[in-house]
Amino acid sequence: MALDRVEVIRNNVGILKAEAARFSAAITSNAQTAILDRQTLTGDDGDAALQSANEDSDAGVAANLNMSDEQTAHAIDAIRGNMYGICEMCNIDIPTARLDARPQATKCVPCQAEEEARTVEWQ
Ligand SMILES: [Zn+2]
Repeated sequence: MALDRVEVIRNNVGILKAEAARFSAAITSNAQTAILDRQTLTGDDGDAALQSANEDSDAGVAANLNMSDEQTAHAIDAIRGNMYGICEMCNIDIPTARLDARPQATKCVPCQAEEEARTVEWQ
């Protein structure tokens, strides 16, 4: 069955808003865990190692959450600006199948690939 673009976009708006709410709750909860991790340790060498591991893990979770949250927030900005579904680099309609598979997409596949290739070159 062919995907109905309007239906997919309408559905994605709901998904993105729910995701944004979930990410914001998860980010708050992760930050609280990081604070608790610091407060519950007493300060011997074992605790120091555990604390360091906890902080690495908290920071990793936070980085992933923030990245996903940024992509979702970026897509929501596109919805607000009435630009959702249009590639922000080349201005073509992002294929409906891509929007259906990836609600956060704000670029078409060739532009996304081009940007990722550039990012890799810079690293
Ligand atoms: Zn494009």
